[in-house]
Amino acid sequence: MNVSRIFKQDPDPLKLDELFSSDEKCLEFLAEAKWKDGFICRKCGNTNHCPGKTPYSRRCTKCKTEESATAGTIFHNCKFPLHKAFYIAWNVCKAKEDLSTYEFARRLSLRQMTCWNFKTKIRQALNEMDSLTENERESIQKILQ
Ligand SMILES: [Zn+2]
Repeated sequence: MNVSRIFKQDPDPLKLDELFSSDEKCLEFLAEAKWKDGFICRKCGNTNHCPGKTPYSRRCTKCKTEESATAGTIFHNCKFPLHKAFYIAWNVCKAKEDLSTYEFARRLSLRQMTCWNFKTKIRQALNEMDSLTENERESIQKILQ
């Protein structure tokens, strides 16, 4: 899981309401962030693509591998609406107030356990991201020495 993609690119604050109410807007946002520097097929490295079967997915023109906008992100295989997952992720990663899973459940009409599971997933991802950054720092230092 490439967790740096939780919010690789910060959403426009003015568009948060859209993101928190529309799965399609979330997919659009993820696709834009993921392929900001262009498409590269994960399997063969080809840079040409055509639209995939699902909204905002892309298919490699060479090996036909399809990649969804959520692949490699914390939102992949999410069992509840994406815009609700976005809301939780945003609040956990970016907002200052630390909402309880009961509060998320109440606001989003989800089961508390669903919110708890997803929040745990985000926390784990954030921890992994911290350790990744350390490794990267180390390797940069080695190059400099
Ligand atoms: Zn390919």
